[in-house]
Amino acid sequence: MKRVYNFSAGPSMLPLEVLEKAQAELLCYGDCGMSVMEMSHRTPEFEAILNDAEAALRKLLDVPQNYKILFLQGGASTQFASVPLNLLSEHKCADYIVSGQFSKKAYLEAKKYGDIAIAASSAGATPTFSTVPETKRSDFRPDADYVHMCFNNTIYGTKFHYIPDTGNIPLVADMSSCIISEPIDVSKFALIYAGAQKNVAPAGLTLVIVREDLVGNARPDTPAMLDYKEMVENNSMYNTPPCFAIYMAKLVFEWILSIGGLEEMKRRNEKKASLLYDYLDNQSYYTAPVDKKCRSMMNVVFVTGDAELDKKFAKEASAAGLKNLKGHRSVGGMRASIYNAMPYEGVEALVAFMKKFASENPKLDA
Ligand code: PMP
Repeated sequence: MKRVYNFSAGPSMLPLEVLEKAQAELLCYGDCGMSVMEMSHRTPEFEAILNDAEAALRKLLDVPQNYKILFLQGGASTQFASVPLNLLSEHKCADYIVSGQFSKKAYLEAKKYGDIAIAASSAGATPTFSTVPETKRSDFRPDADYVHMCFNNTIYGTKFHYIPDTGNIPLVADMSSCIISEPIDVSKFALIYAGAQKNVAPAGLTLVIVREDLVGNARPDTPAMLDYKEMVENNSMYNTPPCFAIYMAKLVFEWILSIGGLEEMKRRNEKKASLLYDYLDNQSYYTAPVDKKCRSMMNVVFVTGDAELDKKFAKEASAAGLKNLKGHRSVGGMRASIYNAMPYEGVEALVAFMKKFASENPKLDA
C-alpha cells in the first residue's frame, strides 16, 4: 500500500499514527468486543470517549472553565444560522467582517434573523479577498450583539494576523481551517466554531467553544438542534452524536498532546509553510497572490498565470502522488492545504515537483 500526499482543503489527511491506532481498535475497542462504530452513545464506554475528547481539547487550547465545549453536527455551515439564532439576543443586530466566501455566506445566513451589517470587507482587494480587512473598534456598532469573523480563509489562503478589537462586543470566529494548528487565546473570543474535517477528524463533526453567558438566550423559535442550551444541558447528546468522528477527534487531540501540544504543532506547521512560501518568494514561475502579512499557514495558494498550465500542473502532480492541488473552483490556480497531518516530507515533495514542472514547461512569453 502506498499512501499519497493529500493536499485537499477538507476532508483532508489525518495523522498516520492516529489512523493506525483507529485501525488497531477498529474491531474491538478496549475489551468491549465491538467497534466504536457499533457502540450505543448511551454507554459508559462512549461517554468516556466523549469526556476524554473534551478534556483533551480543553487542555490543548487551554480553554477557560467558563467556556463550554460542544460536539455538534451540521458542519460549520449550520453555525452560520446557530450563531445569530442564539446570540442576537439583545439588540438583534450584529456586525460581520467579510474576508472570503464563507464569511460572506455566514453574513447572508444571519441576515435572515436580524439587522446585520458588513463592518469591513476585503472583497474589493485585487485579486478579490487576497488580503484581510484591517479593523478598529470604531468600525463596530456599539449595540451589536456580536461581531463575526472567519479567522482563516480556506479558499483564498489568507489568515487574520491580528485579533480584532471589539471592546465589550462578543467576538465570534469561524476557525474551521486553522483550529488547533497553533495556540490561540480562547478568552479573546466569545465563541469559536469549526467543522472538523480539516485538522480534527473525519467529516460529520462540528466543534463549538462558547462562553457560558452566551448560552440560554436563543430565540424561542430556534430548533432544539441549534439551541446551545439544549446541547449544553445534554452534554452534546440531545440526539445521537457523530460517535466515530468524536472518537477520531479524541485520538487527534491526544496525538497532538503526545508530540508536545500546540507549540510543537505550530513549530511544525510554520516549518512546512516557510518551506513553500520561501520557494515561492525566490522564483518567478509561480505567483502567490496573497498579501504577505496575512498569508495562511494552512492553505497556500499559487498560480502560474496560465490557466492551461495550472490544469496541467494539477493533473501531473496527481499522477506523481500529490493529490488535490487544484485551486477552489471559484479562484482557479493551485491550492496546497498543508494542515496538521501533512508531513514535512509532503511539502518537500511538492516543492521538488514545482521545480521540475517549471523547468519542463517554460512559458511562451518567458
Ligand atoms: N468555514 C470555513 C472557513 C470553511 O473552510 C468551510 C468548509 N470548507 C466552511 C466554513 C463550511 O464548512 P462545512 O462544510 O463544515 O459546513
